[in-house]
Amino acid sequence: MTRPRDFGFRIECFPTRTRTLPPATHTNAYALGGSEVLIVEPAPEDKTEQKAMIDWVQAMRRVGRRPLAIVITHHHPDHIGAAAVMQKELGLPLWAHAATQALMPHLSIDKSLVDGDRIVLDDPLQTWEVLHTPGHASGHLCLFERDLGVLLLGDMVATKSTILIEPSDGDMREYLKQLERLAALEARVGLPAHGEPIEQPSRFLRATHAHRMMRENKIIDVLRSTAAFVALDEMLALVYDDTSVVLWPLAKKSLLAHLEKLQAEGKVHGNNAGYYGWVGET
Ligand SMILES: [Zn+2]
Repeated sequence: MTRPRDFGFRIECFPTRTRTLPPATHTNAYALGGSEVLIVEPAPEDKTEQKAMIDWVQAMRRVGRRPLAIVITHHHPDHIGAAAVMQKELGLPLWAHAATQALMPHLSIDKSLVDGDRIVLDDPLQTWEVLHTPGHASGHLCLFERDLGVLLLGDMVATKSTILIEPSDGDMREYLKQLERLAALEARVGLPAHGEPIEQPSRFLRATHAHRMMRENKIIDVLRSTAAFVALDEMLALVYDDTSVVLWPLAKKSLLAHLEKLQAEGKVHGNNAGYYGWVGET
């Protein structure tokens, strides 16, 4: 694999090997900008990969480019593995959302980014808008360059592997809302953390939203069709009948995230024993 990959518009991609969700094997780091550079996704935990990333940034300095900061999209281990070491070795500040800092107290975040922030890079001028897009992770950030139509997606969608919404920190209601928000941007290119660039990402984002809603409607059908409470594992088999059983442990997390959403909306009631029943409109 040749690294970095030049995507044009002064955007480079530097995939690093990480322990991420299969079949993905890498997390894409990005360098945004020409003379002034923003590094996104300090991902790898592996020492060799960390060194490769540090060498990549140092090579920029040797040709007169000026890295300004390292941006963390969210707190998952396959996105922050090199954050502290890059901060130290390169003397660069770490920028992230406050919720990421709260979840990762061992990291020393130098600047909290909030929704609506603008990061301006000079020569050529690029203005990256910060979008706080919780759902997959409470502190998740995307970056959007409106003139270029380039949307940095983090883990909102991936072309390799699926994106997990875990009930602990994830929030299906927020996630679906943010997918719609990102789709409305009508970006020209989407850059995910896992997999290849996505042309016209709005279509992909809407398809992901539709797929999740298809799944949710299956849950609703199962619960509405019976007056009794349904056990979680029973529901899993019915709702994911089109999915390999190998994936059911992951599917169960998604199912729980959907059930949390439906409970928050007052449509489903769950009890402590893990049984769920429909209480919405019939
Ligand atoms: Zn993630």
